[in-house]
Amino acid sequence: VSMRKKKLIAGNWKMNGSLAANDALLRAVLAGAGLPGCDVAVAVPAPYLAQAQALLAGSPVALAAQDVSQHAAGAFTGEVGAAMLQDFGVRYCLVGHSERRQYHGETDAAVAAKAQRALAAGITPVVCVGETLAERDAGQTAAVVRRQLAAVVHVVGHCVSEIVVAYEPVWAIGTGQTATPAQAQEVHAVLRAQLQAASAQPAGVRIVYGGSMNAANAAELLAQPDIDGGLIGGASLKAPDFLRIIAAAA
Ligand code: PGA
Repeated sequence: VSMRKKKLIAGNWKMNGSLAANDALLRAVLAGAGLPGCDVAVAVPAPYLAQAQALLAGSPVALAAQDVSQHAAGAFTGEVGAAMLQDFGVRYCLVGHSERRQYHGETDAAVAAKAQRALAAGITPVVCVGETLAERDAGQTAAVVRRQLAAVVHVVGHCVSEIVVAYEPVWAIGTGQTATPAQAQEVHAVLRAQLQAASAQPAGVRIVYGGSMNAANAAELLAQPDIDGGLIGGASLKAPDFLRIIAAAA
């Protein structure tokens, strides 16, 4: 049984939003969240970091980014560095989201380098891992997520106790087809065991689930012993839904 730790509910807005929409959404989330019984974060598109930082200042909702460069600075057109995120008060940063791996060719090694950059800037990397449907059907789920996490463990070493892991089965992302609580728990247990072998303080590492988590299914997913929160895409864009997930995690 995992030690009790505060759950983390993180919204991943992906490439959605506008100044007007962000303002309305964040105000509604802040008004409804009160003093949440869990940690809450929102990962906003990079151009809106300053806007979100100002709106979230002094609130219990933390600012998160969706990606970070594996490079420190220099001739990397279009990239955003960890020190830049630090400038805007970013507390968490997604790394290795499956959409980055799929559409932008991010390798396990690149994801590990990004996690390391975030940690060095005092930002908690949320390391995303997960299998495709073909990999699941071929019985490779455990091997795939272990390989993805191992690459990060290899690079960050003992700092692995400071990361968050997000298990996001690719087939469940944006599809409405959520993993069952038992399916998710099974993979979370695999990741927990891997962290236990790699970290001196494995009990503190949160493993959150992502993939069509919503207001209706959050409670039973979050009730699993090794599910320590959620990474929420679509449902994080609607304040009432996001707030119900936050309430389910308290
Ligand atoms: P979803 O996205 O909740 O819309 O499935 C989750 C994610 O990709 O982080």
